[in-house]
Amino acid sequence: MKHPENSSEYKGLQVNSGVNSAPIINPYRRRRAAAVLTPGDYVEGILKGDVSVLGRAVTLIESTAEAHQAIAQEVIEKCLPYSGGSKRIGITGVPGAGKSTSIDEFGLHVIRNGGRLAVLAIDPSSERSRGSILGDKTRMEKLSQQKEAFIRPSPSAGSLGGVARKTRETIVLCEAAGYDNIFVETVGVGQSETAVHSMVDFFLLIQLAGTGDELQGIKRGIMEMADGIVINKADGDNIERANLAAAQFRNALHLFPPTPSGWKPEVLTYSGYFGLGIDKVWDMIDRYFDYVKASGYFRTKRNEQAKYWMLETIDAQLRHSFYSRPEVAALLEQKEMRVLNNEQSSFTAAKDVLDFYFESIKHP
Ligand code: GDP
Repeated sequence: MKHPENSSEYKGLQVNSGVNSAPIINPYRRRRAAAVLTPGDYVEGILKGDVSVLGRAVTLIESTAEAHQAIAQEVIEKCLPYSGGSKRIGITGVPGAGKSTSIDEFGLHVIRNGGRLAVLAIDPSSERSRGSILGDKTRMEKLSQQKEAFIRPSPSAGSLGGVARKTRETIVLCEAAGYDNIFVETVGVGQSETAVHSMVDFFLLIQLAGTGDELQGIKRGIMEMADGIVINKADGDNIERANLAAAQFRNALHLFPPTPSGWKPEVLTYSGYFGLGIDKVWDMIDRYFDYVKASGYFRTKRNEQAKYWMLETIDAQLRHSFYSRPEVAALLEQKEMRVLNNEQSSFTAAKDVLDFYFESIKHP
């Protein structure tokens, strides 16, 4: 049993040349514009599980146009009573850890057991470069052919906070559309884990058995958030190293403070590529849900998250209201100059701008 990566012929990542697009058979054919839907149509379509309507509603959530946002918010509000019934699972791991390979297998496992799942993503790389770490390649090839799976790449516009909020809103619509498992995937390279953690029930960290110190390079904060740590690529010659890594992680976890849920995070090994040990991983996740539902922590955490998102939304809207006013921006610029020239202190300058803003919203 050998993964192609272990062959001496393997050259690492390769770029395939694209295929030419097929000629247009009738260049004069006009695309039929999609019918305009009312918020009520969206809600009805979503509740019926109509994937195309769901996809269009998610596009509205992702849009920055005010008119789209207004419809999106109405749709979300109406879907809210039908949401909340899924298992929300966050999945993280560095690029190459095997997230897409594993999600493919985890997803098929869920479907085989009669579930339906939505795979969403939060990719912070899109914020700066407008490129993405997660989204560029064809990912989750098996899952994307299943009608029980809805896969949506990361929203790309805006700050990490903005992207995370859109994903959180998308969860509501997916649940209303009947998806009883929601995976939220992110790259394990920074801040985005905290955002994902604030919207999921279970947080799964995918790790690899490396050479040397297994715990190097893993942010302690990310490990502390994990409810389960799974070592991927436990296949072929790698099994022993994966077991060793698992033992090291277990030892490290002993030193961590108890989790707020009282659940003891578990460490398992598996192989996403060969589909080995997937049921063990899922059994752990099922046991976690049984445990937190019985203890009441499930509800407590969801309530905390709902409060967190309310405050986040207030925060975002206040900032938007403040920074989107041209007269405020102009005054801010003037004040900045004064502060830089030591003509005014940062604090009085800030107070002046805020006073001006509060006055301007009183008399719009
Ligand atoms: P991602 O960047 O985290 O989404 O990782 P991918 O799923 O794209 O996997 C990166 C590479 O690791 C690919 O070449 C996969 O075929 C390989 N890979 C993923 N899972 C396994 C596994 O269980 N065993 C082995 N040997 N290779 C794997």
